[in-house]
Amino acid sequence: MKTEADVVIVGGGIMGLAIAYDLAKHHGQRNVVVLDQSYLCSGASGRNGGGVRAQWSSEDNVRLMRESVQICRDFAREHRINTWFRQGGYLFLARSDEKAKGLEESAKLQNECGLPTRMLTPSAARQVVPELSTEGVVAACYNPDDAVVFPWPFVWGYAEGARAHGVEVETFTTVTAIETTGGRVSAVVTDKGTIRTNIVVNAAGALSPEVARLVGVELPNHPHRHEICSSEPLKPWLEPLVADLSNGLYFSQSTRGEIVGGVSNHKVPSGADQRSSYRFLSLYSRALLQACPILGSVKILRQWAGLYDITPDSNPIVGKVDGLNGFFLSCGFMGHGFMMAPVIGKMMAKVIAGGPVPEVFERWNLRRFAQGSLLSEGMIIG
Ligand SMILES: Cc1cc2nc3c(=O)[nH]c(=O)nc-3n(C[C@H](O)[C@H](O)[C@H](O)COP(=O)(O)OP(=O)(O)OC[C@H]3O[C@@H](n4cnc5c(N)ncnc54)[C@H](O)[C@@H]3O)c2cc1C
Repeated sequence: MKTEADVVIVGGGIMGLAIAYDLAKHHGQRNVVVLDQSYLCSGASGRNGGGVRAQWSSEDNVRLMRESVQICRDFAREHRINTWFRQGGYLFLARSDEKAKGLEESAKLQNECGLPTRMLTPSAARQVVPELSTEGVVAACYNPDDAVVFPWPFVWGYAEGARAHGVEVETFTTVTAIETTGGRVSAVVTDKGTIRTNIVVNAAGALSPEVARLVGVELPNHPHRHEICSSEPLKPWLEPLVADLSNGLYFSQSTRGEIVGGVSNHKVPSGADQRSSYRFLSLYSRALLQACPILGSVKILRQWAGLYDITPDSNPIVGKVDGLNGFFLSCGFMGHGFMMAPVIGKMMAKVIAGGPVPEVFERWNLRRFAQGSLLSEGMIIG
């Protein structure tokens, strides 16, 4: 392992690797090290549902995720790896007038941003998914350009791309301390040695508060277990990812045929526990059969869990930390950091390389919590 680097990134999930890739490829920074305490894909980046969508309720998210969907679509060609990208759209269901109104307002905003999102009556939703039960559904919202992918090739693609441009990616290397000198970071201490550096990026996902604490910075985000499962493979029949905002249910069919999905489980306490539970299976089965009764005889083959990285206002924490030079944050991505990484990686790389700070990064800065200028986002799943 190197003993000196221009940039050290803590966390080899999709966020850390995307930043490293963009730093090396687009900003010529070759002396970059990515450190991960485990194997690639061990964090949320290897455990998620692979949903990428531009349907959001805030303009920042709509515009950024639209770009991210495009990067995801082109990823296979750029990185020469199969991503199982499937653009079948996202179909949101509302079971109350209040949720329907929220979808309607979001669809209007999305149309203003150039998205082809449209509101659907329950019967029109059945034209998109004929197997859907629309009992209790008040309205639906559909954007045919949203997509699902297989997450792992994105992590591998970024890692290989970064390595090809000179980045060192060190797995099974835990960051145990971060040294500072005169108000700026000066070294990263790991269980395999120390790397001297003036720039450290905290991309440790749901564990980012622990990494921030190493330099005395308190973050307001926390880990929260979310479970997910996958069925036996079926013939292709389900076009969009279906999401029900009333109970956090989502399910989609992967290119390989499995039905992959999850549901909210409000009884899960905060913490980094990643065990699977029977309660999840029971909640998921009930919600899934309510939405799509035909799936009653389908077998679940695998269930697993990962960590959402929850912030108080459902928006990320990115950029510099006031009072500590050289320490950057790229965390707090809730349950949608996978789809954010392609575009945020690019933007973070530009900022780290000395470029101007984008306006959205000012809004998403850590200082908003102390200032009480919290944001909102209403289209969170799960
Ligand atoms: C069940 C589930 C479903 C989801 N579905 C979606 C979805 O459909 N679409 C979507 O966009 N997002 C989804 N997400 C969210 C998405 O997976 C995450 O937001 C995203 O992967 C976060 O990426 P990351 O790189 O920030 O974090 P991670 O992938 O968690 O990577 C952080 C890395 O930091 C490492 N690390 C931590 N501490 C240290 C340390 N001290 N030293 C060294 N390394 C350290 C960890 O080992 C880890 O590999 C889902 C998440 C879950 C759990």
